Amino acid sequence: MAVWDRLVGQARAIELLDRAARDAHHPETKSNSMTHAWLFTGPPGAGRSTAAILFAAAILCEKFGCGTCSVCKQVLNDQHPDVNRFIPQQITITRDESEALIRETSVMPLTGAYRIIIIEDADRLNDVSGNMLLKSIEEPHSRAVWILCTPSVDDVLPTIRSRCRTLALATPSWNEVADLLIREGIEPAMAAYSARAAQGHVGRARGLATDEATRRRRHEILQIPSQLHDLRACFIAAENIVSVATEEANAESDRRDEEEKNDVLELFGAEAGSKSKGERAARPILRELETRQKSRRTRAVRDRLDQSLTDLMSYFTDVMKLQLVGDEAELVNEDLRGQLKDFARNSTAAKTRARMEAIERARRQFASNAQPQMIIEALTIELARA
Ligand SMILES: [Zn+2]
Repeated sequence: MAVWDRLVGQARAIELLDRAARDAHHPETKSNSMTHAWLFTGPPGAGRSTAAILFAAAILCEKFGCGTCSVCKQVLNDQHPDVNRFIPQQITITRDESEALIRETSVMPLTGAYRIIIIEDADRLNDVSGNMLLKSIEEPHSRAVWILCTPSVDDVLPTIRSRCRTLALATPSWNEVADLLIREGIEPAMAAYSARAAQGHVGRARGLATDEATRRRRHEILQIPSQLHDLRACFIAAENIVSVATEEANAESDRRDEEEKNDVLELFGAEAGSKSKGERAARPILRELETRQKSRRTRAVRDRLDQSLTDLMSYFTDVMKLQLVGDEAELVNEDLRGQLKDFARNSTAAKTRARMEAIERARRQFASNAQPQMIIEALTIELARA
């Protein structure tokens, strides 16, 4: 399976990136499909960072991203020495972090023809770290490729934007996501439900389709709006939301960590738990992997909380549709239609709007360093009061 099969609903982007990667293998042709600085944009879940990784694999793999060779596997597992995937753990990318990334590009590629630096959440660059990066993007090392990922083009300094080639990823449709899941072996009804509930977020859809606990937790979140009868209920709900997010992040991290570990062991021809020569050789890499996995886990909790708020938002979007369009409205949470109708009847569109705004506000506050628990408590109280 070529690497591009992992990117759903992005035919135009794939065509462009495939051409660029092929040109990258023949720099002497001086074609302009390939360039050294890219800005990948798109809503969460559309596959910005996936696209960046796949592009890196296609640039470095001799067969332009075959998906099966050792180069592809290393890139896909975050283990290729010439690909640095930077996932910011702080609210802003610091000057030091920027500096370290720039230093990376001055080193000659170890095995491949390029050094590829992927910056996820490049919207976290501030003026200082952004301007530092700008210089390096303006006069790049001939073997460096920068890939910056942000929700939209307005999320980076205009000066950076103007020096990058922009690639916009669209939110894939429910059908496209469902088709992908079916190709991956999910039963059609489950694929349809998960794709719809995930609203175009591929990773989320996959999680819902394959994990019953994830489905149950989503269902619990969607029960919250109808439970906020008094202050005590608000506090309990807030605690539930935070613990659900933590549980879900841990479940996903456990699964992913295990898979990555096994991939490393496989690369060294060893089995988990064995005391073979391969296992000993893999140890330093496993240690490094564990460090990375740990910081990813912390971040995953925040991402999950944001996911819970997205689920809550889908509830009120449905309520709003019922209030404005009526019974024929198509809903994200089709399975809860009866309950949603009751809620819509007992409220008004103005109140629903106020509730949606409260959720938006809470999401923005996650970008600050405030305690998640406090943000969510304030939110549940607002939802009850509206
Ligand atoms: Zn390959």
